[in-house]
Amino acid sequence: MIDSSLKDIAAALRAKRVSAVELATESLARIEAGNGRINAFVTTCRDSALQAAAEADARLAAGTAGPLTGIPLAHKDVFCTEGVLTTCGSKMLANFVSPYDAHVVSLLKQAGAVMVGKTNMDEFAMGSSNENSHFGPTRNPWNPDCVPGGSSGGSAAAVAARMVPIATGTDTGGSVRQPAALCGITGIKPTYGTVSRYGMIAYASSLDQGGAFARSAEDCALLLSAMAGHDPRDSTSLEREAEDYSRDLARPLAGLRIGLPKEFFADGMDDDVRAAVEAALAEYRKLGATTVEVSLPNARLAIPAYYVIAPAEASSNLSRFDGVRYGHRAAEYTDLNDMYCKSRAQGFGAEVKRRILVGTYVLSHGYYDAYYIKAQKLRRLIANDFAAAFRQCDVIAGPTSPTVAFGIGEKSDDPVQMYLSDIYTIAINLAGLPGLSHPAGFGKGGLPVGLQLIGNYFDEARLLGVAHQFQQATDWHARAPQA
Ligand code: GLN
Repeated sequence: MIDSSLKDIAAALRAKRVSAVELATESLARIEAGNGRINAFVTTCRDSALQAAAEADARLAAGTAGPLTGIPLAHKDVFCTEGVLTTCGSKMLANFVSPYDAHVVSLLKQAGAVMVGKTNMDEFAMGSSNENSHFGPTRNPWNPDCVPGGSSGGSAAAVAARMVPIATGTDTGGSVRQPAALCGITGIKPTYGTVSRYGMIAYASSLDQGGAFARSAEDCALLLSAMAGHDPRDSTSLEREAEDYSRDLARPLAGLRIGLPKEFFADGMDDDVRAAVEAALAEYRKLGATTVEVSLPNARLAIPAYYVIAPAEASSNLSRFDGVRYGHRAAEYTDLNDMYCKSRAQGFGAEVKRRILVGTYVLSHGYYDAYYIKAQKLRRLIANDFAAAFRQCDVIAGPTSPTVAFGIGEKSDDPVQMYLSDIYTIAINLAGLPGLSHPAGFGKGGLPVGLQLIGNYFDEARLLGVAHQFQQATDWHARAPQA
């Protein structure tokens, strides 16, 4: 039953053809059967899930259920969950049991969704392959020798492997869209400020944004509608009315202007990705959309700007992990300073240390203007490029990732190659815009290819509607990897 759409599952729950307890049991059984191979989950929560499912069944019986009541769900392990281990993929937090729920977690609890577990991720959301997790790499359900993408690779793999129908993620530079593409599912990162960051462990606060994974755009719309909304505990949370992100699903594509940035279609993407993306664009034209060339001349500067700004913010955010209040503390040390040094040296992995070093450097006296201020100026230019492009088109389309899923270990020794995995996604975070990735076919090795749709600020309902129309005419999103 958990292979069905959320609409069909919700109808089955209401018609008593299935119970929430049965759904949770099915989800937990699939995790148990597949997690040894995929390593998508760091923690599973059998007892609390079955209890939440029983409560959902009571709500269904009382007629007070919403669209997500009784639906099994996984949270990326970056979201704090009261009474449940919240590791952020790090040895630093390997023993951290959060005393409170993230805003997103409490909203989904209120909606009656049933959390079955917490998913694996790159340590502190830094990475594009999930290989930076302290808990070992997650494997791609389409080919376990390949990465699922990152940093939300556990959530993407869990949905792709049909362990759960929906999962949360976060996207600072591509961490929802890129793993969605590499795992053959749909993922959306909304406009910055749409989803509260309260209780979402911070990486780069001016870029971090919660997002949704599901097999289809229609299901992503339901999940995002439940996750979004103003929260006074996050100072960057937007004071906007709650939205129904499903409202544009039925809107036809006739008249839609799709902008194709010429820089995205120049060299850089693999031939198999290009072929799938071109075929998907042909399908969009068949459905009534027109395409127009646009230009994002500063997009090539997104990676260098991001790898100044994000580490700068990370170096500040991660200073709180000092071995004093929570998290890992070295067993032996001589004095306070030595305790800080040893706890951080032992608790953080190599990529996190690299970024703390880079971030501390670019913020230091004498380099601040040359690197940090310069990167902030590039950020503005990149946002201006998008503003100009959206005067010519309604949505922008291109590849999500330059390649299909790569082999485990293939890029882990070369940080620059790894950073280039996000060449098409990072500019969107710098501008704060919404972006979505949907399945668009298959490439080398039968691995999925994602198409990225970028919207103007607050156009998530439109993006979801556009993707839904595509998914009504195609079945890429319905293909499942072999169990
Ligand atoms: N892959 C990018 C990085 O390593 C983006 C990660 C993210 O979006 N959290 O920083």
